[in-house]
Amino acid sequence: MAVKGKILIIEDDRAICSFMRRVLEANGYETLNASTGREAISMLASHCPDLAILDLGLPDMDGMEVLTDLRRWSLMPVVVVSARTDEREKVSALDAGADDYITKPFGTSELLARIRTAIRHTRTTSGNSSIARSNRFSAKGLVIDYDKYRAYINGSDANLTQNEFKLVALLGRYAGRVLTYDYLIREIWGPNKAYDNQILRVNMANIRRKIEKNPAEPQYIFTEVGVGYRMIEGD
Ligand code: CA
Repeated sequence: MAVKGKILIIEDDRAICSFMRRVLEANGYETLNASTGREAISMLASHCPDLAILDLGLPDMDGMEVLTDLRRWSLMPVVVVSARTDEREKVSALDAGADDYITKPFGTSELLARIRTAIRHTRTTSGNSSIARSNRFSAKGLVIDYDKYRAYINGSDANLTQNEFKLVALLGRYAGRVLTYDYLIREIWGPNKAYDNQILRVNMANIRRKIEKNPAEPQYIFTEVGVGYRMIEGD
C-alpha cells in the first residue's frame, strides 16, 4: 500500500496512542509518536509530518501551547483530540488554527474521516478539489452549483434565499470540516453581526426545512453543539 502521509500522534495516553497507530498504519499512514509537549515541538520541526493529531491534555504543558508554537511557522493540518466536552475549548482550538477536532471516545471511521478531510484541504489551496474542477459540490442528492448560484435537492431547485445559499455554499467548500458559528456569521453577515447566533440559527432552520427530509435528523448539514456546523463529505 502506498504511504498516504506521515502523521505525528501527540498523545501521552498509551492505550489511545496505540489504538490510533494501529488504525492509521492499517490504512496506509506512517505514524510517529510524541508523548509530551516538549517532545512534540521538537518532532514537529525535525520530521515535518503531513498532519499532527494533538491531545490537549499533555503532562508537561497544555496542547494549545504546542498548537500556538506550531502556527508561528507552519500551516500543517492539526486535528485536536479533546477529552473534555467543553465547547469553548474546541472553539478556541479552531480559532488558534486547529483544522478540526475529535472528542474522546471516538471510533475508527470518525478518526479517518477527520484526517482525510484535514489533509485534503491543505493539498488543495482553494478548498475542495472536486469543486475546483467542476464548480459543483454533490453529496447524496444535494447539488450545489457554484456557477448558477443555486442548490438542488434530488434534481429540483431548493429555492434558497441569497444568504441561505451563501451558507450552504461555504459549508460545501469546506465539506467534512466544522465551521464555527462566528466564522460563518462573519463570512455571511460581516463583522458587525458577530456573536449574534440567532440570525444563523434562523437561517439554518430554513435551510434544513428546504433540503432535509427530516430537519430534526439532518443528513447533509450536522450541528456540532456549541461549536458550529459541518457539511457531509462530498460523493
Ligand atoms: Ca492526555
